[in-house]
Amino acid sequence: MTRSRSRAVSGLLTVATAVAPATASAQSTGGPQAGSVDVRVVRADDGSPVHAWTVPASAGSNTVAWDGTTSTGPAPSGSYRFELGTDARATQQGAAASSTGFTFLDHMFPIRGKHDLGQSPTNGYGGGRGHQGQDMFAACGTPVAVTRGGRVRFAGFQSAAGNYAVITSKRTGLDYVYMHMRAPALVKQGDDVTTGQPLGEVGDTGRASGCHLHVELWSKPGWYSGGTAFDPLPRLRAWDAWS
Ligand SMILES: [Zn+2]
Repeated sequence: MTRSRSRAVSGLLTVATAVAPATASAQSTGGPQAGSVDVRVVRADDGSPVHAWTVPASAGSNTVAWDGTTSTGPAPSGSYRFELGTDARATQQGAAASSTGFTFLDHMFPIRGKHDLGQSPTNGYGGGRGHQGQDMFAACGTPVAVTRGGRVRFAGFQSAAGNYAVITSKRTGLDYVYMHMRAPALVKQGDDVTTGQPLGEVGDTGRASGCHLHVELWSKPGWYSGGTAFDPLPRLRAWDAWS
């Protein structure tokens, strides 16, 4: 289709991402009458929109960044793509109206290597001794990543926890606790960290028999601050499915 003198908005975007934020750029080649163009993020399976922007379609490149949220909160992990609005698509001249799909992860599984989620009940929440988290096994030295970005609430060493870190996500409202890391966490109290950022390595510091990562999840207002620990295993399993 050719429509000269009309605006042409072309060339969405390369999206290569595993974690938020995802970004896309729309190349606009229209004239002064170009106006604006709608860009949105849609679910890959049914095309339903989760977020939208209106950007000026002036000549050049416009970039939008999706922070992984919808109007009702964090978007679930899954496959998404960026799309141009219908109006802009009508004036396309052979350009892609949508991006290639990308996988958005609302969390990243913390152990970035071969691991075992913990088979025995004593590895789990409760565990017959008031165990407040899940013990997951991997070789000492296996990289540990931030499961969900936020602000570092505590990072240090404690006789039972070993090298540990507690990270609060404002968006999910949870505290994420990581224990027994081989060396002090790569982050310090007060740091703002992103999902997937390196946090340390699996270790056996503190009260630990064998190399493993102990993970706890706490509800608001957080770790030993009035929140409550709950069984993290169902969520860890779901995050692991994407790892
Ligand atoms: Zn444990």
